[in-house]
Amino acid sequence: MKIDVLSLFPGMFQGVFGESILKKAAEKQAVTYNVVNFREYADNKHGQVDDYPYGGGAGMVLKPQPIFDAIEALSIEKEKKPRVVLLCPQGERYTQKKAEQLAQEEHLIFICGHYEGYDERIREHVITDEISIGDYVLTGGELGAMVVIDSVVRLLPGVLGNEDSPIKDSFSSGLLEHPHYTRPADFRGMTVPEALTSGNHKHINEWREKQSLKRTFERRPDLLKDYPLSDQQKKWLEEWRKS
Ligand code: SAM
Repeated sequence: MKIDVLSLFPGMFQGVFGESILKKAAEKQAVTYNVVNFREYADNKHGQVDDYPYGGGAGMVLKPQPIFDAIEALSIEKEKKPRVVLLCPQGERYTQKKAEQLAQEEHLIFICGHYEGYDERIREHVITDEISIGDYVLTGGELGAMVVIDSVVRLLPGVLGNEDSPIKDSFSSGLLEHPHYTRPADFRGMTVPEALTSGNHKHINEWREKQSLKRTFERRPDLLKDYPLSDQQKKWLEEWRKS
């Protein structure tokens, strides 16, 4: 996968792309990152990328020209058009499903807004997706792009050590993940559930399935609305609802 990021603050990405799993993903050639300061595409000698809003009002608005030119330069000579993602508090709320969808692409371009916003013609003519990472307002799209890129890159084949671990993660299965424990089995009198130390894989899997459902029921019952429950899972839910 090729990931281009248009940002006025490219230095913000150094830490995120240069550490841990995102760094290893690039070393394994699962992904290449290219952070472009779109000020370089401004067609005026001062490198101005924003201007006052028509109609007046507070804040500055990103001009269309530098972003149109940067996107055209990055998409050139590509058979398949890239997905162009605009980070925006007004976009669709980001989910694991969307991460799985984006992970299928060969080329993603992220546009990080700043200031009051950006010229509406960018939204209308350049972008394919508008993503919000939550119902709050950030100073810029950089942190949002990092969140999306991190969640997409970890899904690329070969990036995580254990191939099937993202499948079992919260949301991928449709439920929240079960709790985890590690050694020691007894820490200051706090013990690990017996099923996990039994060595019996059937018991372990059943305990995990039940805990995953219980956790979802207690914390995110909204996720159960569309979840295809087995008869056993329906029984467990009934028990918890009664208690
Ligand atoms: N005036 C805009 C509004 O009310 O919708 C908010 C602009 S915000 C200060 C500046 C930039 O930060 C946005 O253009 C966007 O790129 C980014 N941003 C802010 N909140 C975000 C969020 N929740 N998700 C993704 N990007 C966000």
